[in-house]
Amino acid sequence: MTTALYRRYRPETFAEVIGQDHVTAPLRQALRNGQVNHAYLFSGPRGCGKTSSARILARILNCERNTEANPTDTPCGQCESCRELARGGPGSLDVVEIDAASHGGVDDARELRERATFAPSRDRFKVFILDEAHMVSPQGFNALLKIVEEPPPHVMFIFATTEPDKVIGTIRSRTHHYPFRLVPPDVMLSFLEQVAQAEGVTVGAGVLQLVVRAGAGSVRDSLSVLDQLIAGSGPAGLDYEGAVALLGFTHASLLDDLVDAIAASDGASAFRVVERVISTGHEPRRFVEDLLERLRDLIVIAAAGDAASAALHDVPADQLAHMRTQAVHLGASELSRSADLINAALSEMTGATSPRLHLELLMARLLLPGADDSVAGFSARLDRLERGGIVSTATLTPAPLLPAAMPSDSVVATPAVA
Ligand SMILES: [Zn+2]
Repeated sequence: MTTALYRRYRPETFAEVIGQDHVTAPLRQALRNGQVNHAYLFSGPRGCGKTSSARILARILNCERNTEANPTDTPCGQCESCRELARGGPGSLDVVEIDAASHGGVDDARELRERATFAPSRDRFKVFILDEAHMVSPQGFNALLKIVEEPPPHVMFIFATTEPDKVIGTIRSRTHHYPFRLVPPDVMLSFLEQVAQAEGVTVGAGVLQLVVRAGAGSVRDSLSVLDQLIAGSGPAGLDYEGAVALLGFTHASLLDDLVDAIAASDGASAFRVVERVISTGHEPRRFVEDLLERLRDLIVIAAAGDAASAALHDVPADQLAHMRTQAVHLGASELSRSADLINAALSEMTGATSPRLHLELLMARLLLPGADDSVAGFSARLDRLERGGIVSTATLTPAPLLPAAMPSDSVVATPAVA
């Protein structure tokens, strides 16, 4: 049984906390100045470092080397308290962690108030970390109010919560509030690269980008995903195929084939992709979501040109080169029109009984700007004309392109053609 990555890479100092510089920098400055408040509120999404930071703050406050004469923002790591509060340490008597989700009642709050009146057993402060602080009941908060308003000099409260608005105002106004954020993708990516390297795992191109996407900005979730991928990997390490299948993302090659088909008005290929999506067990809605994301990337590329790589840092270089070609082939108006269509289809697909039908209708619309009388449709047709495209065949003859391309059992047997 191995320890979870998330535990093994839990930060022990503020310097190790990633993606929260806007919080850690001013907090560390305050600590260096010896400006210590008696109550802190750490808010933000789950898994982005609030509880870890609360523990780090407690560790610094009770570090033997941190004195009023010599304030510091980094735990020494050697004194008894620092060692007790290190990763995997036994914990300290003077740092009390309370999970308000299970101990948020008024009796728990009264007991806490009682405990707070006693002096610390060894260290400078008695630190109470209230995790999930929004779960403290209103009566519980009221019981705590007095001690938070007028705390004994040795008492310190750190509230950690995903919902700061649920912490009653009278308590909140006594705290220094530090809002944590989701970790930006590029910061997360380089962190995961470091972890993979430290773990000695070989990682194929594009895999960590998938992990970043799946983790959605939460360090804990991202490391859990990476953990799972590593656990299921062979001696060759992590490869893109395995990761994309396990995480349920659409394989980039499916998106490539579809976008290429749309750019070439190649109905046969487009519907073959739909066939592959269905036959490989992809969820149609997820596929359309991923397609929309791809269109977004292409729009960024079309708009930003060479500068796009900065905005699309999670796209590997060879993939980016291919997407540049796709953006040129489709053109700005067609990209924008397609994104609108895909977005509309995505809303229609929510709760739809036949998502496949919607997916196929979407294909028909994407392939036929000629059937679209809106300004966006005309604009897309103009784009195609300018590129020497085949807009006239799709418009004037009864759509030779599409019916020939349709699988015989398809539900979209007679698409309306303007
Ligand atoms: Zn220390």
